[in-house]
Amino acid sequence: MKSSFDVVVIGAGPSGATAAARLLQDNLSVLIIEKTEFPRFVIGESLLPQCMDFLEKVDLLDCIAEKKFQVKNGVSFYHENKTCDFLFNERYTDGWDYTYQVKRADFDLALLEEVEKKGAIVHFNSEVTDVKTSATNQHVFYTNSEGQQVEIECKFVIDSSGYGRVLPRLFDLNVPATSIPRGAVFAHVKDDKRSEKASANIFVNAFNNNSAWIWSIPFSDGTASVGIVGEESYVASISENNGAEFKNLVKSFPGLNGRYAETEFNFEPKTILGYSIAVKQLHGEGYVLCGNSTEFLDPIFSSGVMFALKSGYMAADLVAKQLDGESVDWDTEYDEILLHGVEVFRSYVDAWYNGDLHTIFFKENGNEEFKKQICSVLAGYVWDMSNPFVKKHKRILGTLAKVIRLEN
Ligand SMILES: Cc1cc2nc3c(=O)[nH]c(=O)nc-3n(C[C@H](O)[C@H](O)[C@H](O)COP(=O)(O)OP(=O)(O)OC[C@H]3O[C@@H](n4cnc5c(N)ncnc54)[C@H](O)[C@@H]3O)c2cc1C
Repeated sequence: MKSSFDVVVIGAGPSGATAAARLLQDNLSVLIIEKTEFPRFVIGESLLPQCMDFLEKVDLLDCIAEKKFQVKNGVSFYHENKTCDFLFNERYTDGWDYTYQVKRADFDLALLEEVEKKGAIVHFNSEVTDVKTSATNQHVFYTNSEGQQVEIECKFVIDSSGYGRVLPRLFDLNVPATSIPRGAVFAHVKDDKRSEKASANIFVNAFNNNSAWIWSIPFSDGTASVGIVGEESYVASISENNGAEFKNLVKSFPGLNGRYAETEFNFEPKTILGYSIAVKQLHGEGYVLCGNSTEFLDPIFSSGVMFALKSGYMAADLVAKQLDGESVDWDTEYDEILLHGVEVFRSYVDAWYNGDLHTIFFKENGNEEFKKQICSVLAGYVWDMSNPFVKKHKRILGTLAKVIRLEN
């Protein structure tokens, strides 16, 4: 086997696949090292319209369209018997009106198969155990599917290892998130009682004073993903006894109007705690972090895969430029751009849990222009600085919520 490549990508999720597809556009040789066998389960099933832009840029959109995933037209937020629908075709920023709700095992496999067809070499059941980087060449060490230790030389390493966080662990880059530690418990269920609208809009409903929320994400095969996010102790408590209390909540949740009253759970609920994390730096000599190996905030606005695709695309684009002899300013051309998007979503996540967004979303006769601008953020268009709800994200939500409360 070849023992040197232009680029080694660690992890074959959406960020790794997108990065590889971009590198292959410049005829670079790419090895993807993936710990598991695909298809594999991973959470993160509701995409944002902005994802479509990145998939299109690297020619990965057709292979996804062929799979007939559930089309997602928007998000329906519920609160105390009120509904607030955001439909992506009523957005401020130019872009995509729709996206998909996907079982990630199928979505990630479709991306990876296409990237393999384009020329990437993929080693499954292979776990990266060490990486040595320098200004000129890099060495990646992994245990292959036969249990042998392998060393690969390359010019650049892209860490797309998601929750594996390979380089943040090896290079001591992890830092705790500033938010309250939250967790999630989730499962897939039979969903044969949904309306057409309920198919194309994901359902989100906060409860327990906005400290917890429930999701329902319908798939095209008549099943759905359901999950509850909340503070760790709460999630741990409803996860006990194979998620008995979680199952009761899903079956009886008022906003779901009995849709899952008699549902079947397709697997025992899974629990993840402490997923929010940040890093000291996003790049270094010979390496860059992408997707979830960077910073993961919170699942509330389904932004994870969008960041995985955006960062995978941007990183690979810059690696190609650098390997072509051009100089790259990683601070301004990568970190600043990516972190701007993260900060915009951070403002929305904070405003979700402190109640400001509920005040804005559920105001009767709210301002339609504001709604379109917020809708653009919820569609993932967080780099459109002409949108005041992007540009002034730090203050605008708090100020607007305050004005609405004073009016009432
Ligand atoms: C409760 C919850 C709900 C979520 N819901 C959504 C949602 O609705 N929409 C959304 O967009 N996002 C959601 N997310 C976020 C989403 O899961 C991630 O942002 C997304 O999967 C990141 O993609 P990635 O390519 O960075 O990593 P991943 O998809 O996690 O892929 C990383 C890959 O790296 C491999 N790997 C790990 N370690 C190693 C190693 N040592 N060697 C080789 N390979 C390795 C793994 O096996 C894996 O296949 C959610 C997250 C949580 C916690």
